[in-house]
Amino acid sequence: MTEPERLEGFPGRYWHRLEDGRIQCDICPRYCRLNEGQRGLCFARGRQDDRIVLTTYGRSSGFCVDPIEKKPLNHYLPGTPVLSFGTAGCNLTFKFCQNWDISKGRELDRLQDAASPEDIVEAAIATGSRSIAYTYNDPVILLEYAVDVAKAARRRGIKNVVVTAGYIDAAAREELYGFMDAANVDLKAFTEEFYKRLCTGRLGAVLETLEYLRQRAKVWFEITTLLIPGHNDSSEEVTKLSEWVMTRLGPDVPLHFTAFHPDYKMSDLPRTPAFTLTTARDIARKVGCISSTPGMSMTRAVKARIALAAVSGSSAEIGMTSPAGGSPRMAVAVFAPPQSLSCSRHARAAGGGGASRSGSADGNSLERGSCQR
Ligand code: SF4
Repeated sequence: MTEPERLEGFPGRYWHRLEDGRIQCDICPRYCRLNEGQRGLCFARGRQDDRIVLTTYGRSSGFCVDPIEKKPLNHYLPGTPVLSFGTAGCNLTFKFCQNWDISKGRELDRLQDAASPEDIVEAAIATGSRSIAYTYNDPVILLEYAVDVAKAARRRGIKNVVVTAGYIDAAAREELYGFMDAANVDLKAFTEEFYKRLCTGRLGAVLETLEYLRQRAKVWFEITTLLIPGHNDSSEEVTKLSEWVMTRLGPDVPLHFTAFHPDYKMSDLPRTPAFTLTTARDIARKVGCISSTPGMSMTRAVKARIALAAVSGSSAEIGMTSPAGGSPRMAVAVFAPPQSLSCSRHARAAGGGGASRSGSADGNSLERGSCQR
């Protein structure tokens, strides 16, 4: 009989002991119940010495300097570079994951970069980044690490951005969002059946997070839905999703529709056609997302972007601002399959060796790559 793996890690904060002797992790609605030496579904957390530990604390799978619009966040520090980083593992099992090499990574040798919270903040400052994004894999599973980085960032005037599927328990949610300034939440679909079949999760838990952000958190947030041909792109489903956003969150929450590309366990599907994206945008507008707030008007800049998109046929965005020209109030955006800046994890995947933290102050001089967020 083989000895169980010894799990080294940072003490986790959200767990409790069960009557049957197991320990339950309370970070996310999976509530993994673990015996000594076992890891949870996310692989980042496990039970060692009668407590839950986070095994990925202080180690990163790579860094990128991205434009913040790539998160996507179109209305938070627009036009600024953001230092993005992630670890390994994920608490949802997306069969269509567009970052599967990291999120499904179960080998800690993927985490080649030792990165203390202070190191990450220094890297953000050195690259001219205004914010740090917790992304690539879901930051829910690295909560204690993300919070320590966020605290260090705040001390140096750097903002914090979380890119997440929103699958998190209420108590952990309070702590995480207490240190975040902005969020992009992936709303994968609008049926429980989709979440159960393709993510082994629950839609209801994600909607709770969105309502929490609307009602209680001091966090700017936007929503992204990846439209997958034949799975979540019907007019009926897009209509229900848009209506829910309008009625439960209000007209000031940007809603993005993005294009799927074949990947991971769904490599047999076609890419999302541009027509599907523009149809979704039109549906969202039709349910009143844009015109439902009296006195709002389209900005000249947004009109120009629509015209440009119509010419290129590649992307389009519609946004609204208040008459006083204040913060954007509503945006429905569609994007072509994303392009991005190169990053250390892709250099490594291509055999490029260790991480490169090189980047320009404005993030514009890096080469094009294929990161997804
Ligand atoms: S964070 Fe990981 S270990 Fe904890 S409940 Fe979620 S999947 Fe399980």
